[in-house]
Amino acid sequence: MPFNFDLKPLLPELKKLRHKLHAAAEVSGKEQQTAKIINDFLSATNPDDLKTNIGGYGLLATYDSKKAGPHVLIRCELDGLPISDDISADYQSKTEGIGHKCGHDGHMSIVAGVAKLLGKQRPQVGKVSLLFQPAEETGEGATRVINDAQFEDLAPDYCFALHNLPGFKKDQIVIKDDTFAAASVGLIVRFDGATAHAAHPEEGNSPALAVAQTIQSFSAAPQFRVPLEKSAKVTVIHAGVGERAFGTSPGQGTVMATLRTYDDELLAKLKDHCIRIAKGYADTFDLGLDVEWVEEFPATVNNNEAVKVIESAADKIDLEINQKKEPFSWSEDFGHFTKEYKGAMFGLGAGRSHPALHAQNYDFPDEIIGSGISMFMKIIKETVERS
Ligand SMILES: [Zn+2]
Ligand SMILES: [Zn+2]
Repeated sequence: MPFNFDLKPLLPELKKLRHKLHAAAEVSGKEQQTAKIINDFLSATNPDDLKTNIGGYGLLATYDSKKAGPHVLIRCELDGLPISDDISADYQSKTEGIGHKCGHDGHMSIVAGVAKLLGKQRPQVGKVSLLFQPAEETGEGATRVINDAQFEDLAPDYCFALHNLPGFKKDQIVIKDDTFAAASVGLIVRFDGATAHAAHPEEGNSPALAVAQTIQSFSAAPQFRVPLEKSAKVTVIHAGVGERAFGTSPGQGTVMATLRTYDDELLAKLKDHCIRIAKGYADTFDLGLDVEWVEEFPATVNNNEAVKVIESAADKIDLEINQKKEPFSWSEDFGHFTKEYKGAMFGLGAGRSHPALHAQNYDFPDEIIGSGISMFMKIIKETVERS
């Protein structure tokens, strides 16, 4: 195994912590119990500073050498997902329909391991802050943390995060310069007409055609608006008109879609285009229109110097490096941090045939906790050596 010897005695405790967090899975913004478990764990490592309730239920523990040097922020996530936990293990989620299906329980255990090591030995110079961020899955948590008054003066010199990656060899380090993960945003379009008896639809105003044509036009938008060398998707995720009432011509209609690109500028253009489509059909069919944007994630754009730090760390602890050519098509709210601070996200292989993220049978593989900790410890050392 690629991690150093000191780590081994820690691993059983961190595995236990991971299982405890897994059983207590909570959805975005409601991570109260999870935060308590983490608070207890972090307090026992005697950090120089421990902030709680940051951007919601977030926690931030700082380990300070009290000597001038870089301030490194390492971030993990507190939240689970509204997806049922179909695994057969004694630590299966205790809450029906809620599970740690993105492996954030594993990410927390890795960062808890870093806390444990920094608790025993501070960095040589500078300081390290460990952030347990709430509400990543809804794209709200990072912004809330950054805007929290408790975070105001922190301004880290570097920020790092990892995400476990099913489909990649266990312990493999996946890196990418520039854009690492896509930008995305949810769009809800509501058309408002008027109901009528189904025998007299002409007396009301049904949004059915507006909904149908909006679905078609949204789906075709990338084809006609995006150049060949760029990628974009508009995925209609939900749509409906009226109620299941055969005597009624519907008065309300909804279309929901997710817009996705690899850069923020193209996403802005695509957003404008979708709004024009919705307005066009609202005008054509004389309907009221309400538009709502939700769960906005900027592209996670890595700083290339920070990527070098990750690459050098992986190299020194003999972990296999995979230089990915294309960005990941999923989104991550860590992009809010890399927008403000020099930083990068990297992937940690979770096993080639491991169940996919957000799948009901997904469970974080405990075997990669060690390599995650080793990576962050080496990254901290690398930034100190570069200062
Ligand atoms: Zn996720
Ligand atoms: Zn995730």
